[in-house]
Amino acid sequence: WDDKTVAVVTGSNKGIGFEAARMLAEQGLTTVVTSRNEEQGKQAAAKIQAAAPASRVLYHQLDIADPASVDRFASWLREELGGVTVLVNNAGFAYKGNVFGADEAKVTLGINYAGTRALTEKLLPLLKGPARIVNVSSRAGTRSIVRSQQLLERLTSAASPQQLDEAAEEFVSAIRAGDHAAKGWPSSMYGISKLLLSLWTAQLAEQLRGKHVMVNAMCPGWCRTDMSSGGGTKSAADGADTAVWLALRNPDDFATGGFWGERGGIPW
Ligand code: NDP
Repeated sequence: WDDKTVAVVTGSNKGIGFEAARMLAEQGLTTVVTSRNEEQGKQAAAKIQAAAPASRVLYHQLDIADPASVDRFASWLREELGGVTVLVNNAGFAYKGNVFGADEAKVTLGINYAGTRALTEKLLPLLKGPARIVNVSSRAGTRSIVRSQQLLERLTSAASPQQLDEAAEEFVSAIRAGDHAAKGWPSSMYGISKLLLSLWTAQLAEQLRGKHVMVNAMCPGWCRTDMSSGGGTKSAADGADTAVWLALRNPDDFATGGFWGERGGIPW
């Protein structure tokens, strides 16, 4: 790995994303730290630069749920670095406590699923091989959370992102109408957002098969970060390990469309 390989990590101002960016910089990649809050992101980038003094560490603002921010970031990336080889879609969001509602579901799905997809699709023309996309998903979004077999079959047989978008809208509408449980949806906004992310990851992997792009989803495990309010059995660095392992995987060892945890394939 050298400085000609560009890595982008979303939400890398803290937590698992910070650790993933640090590890990629330590491996010698040109690493782009991104965050929605500019000051926090710049501070994180400075820390990562100090940890990897020989590497090039850059910073750019990026809110994956804000189309204007995504546009600005993609233009900057094209002009400044000419493209990207490693994209770690780490940015994610979960409400704390028992928050549940249609508006909140829209926000959660808008970041974890739609925001990740919007950024990735914007960066697809900028991918420089052998490219890797790692989507930080979660075991909270395994197929078993869907309570109706019919709904599950519809979700898993979705052949296009548009069908996943429709499902996302149905989930939000069902919460608004008060009949999401009767329709087989679980009461986990976060779980559905990550399930849609994992389903879309599998679709994208198929779409890009044969183009030397590895596309994988992974679960970092339960990590001590702000999202888990410091609970968790793993450090943020341990959580980042499998994401970085996938990001740096040898192209001869090509693997795409998988769901990973602790450096191994896991059922979802
Ligand atoms: P943190 O809350 O510590 O970090 C989340 C990061 O995502 C922050 O940098 C946050 O920015 C950023 N983010 C949130 N929304 C956006 C947005 N719209 N645009 C750009 N960045 C955004 O959580 P973790 O480090 O624990 O989580 C990292 C990933 O790991 C997430 O995708 C999470 O769902 C996943 N995960 C975490 C687990 C855990 O146990 N911690 C378990 C399973 C999965 P800001 O600081 O501005 O909020």
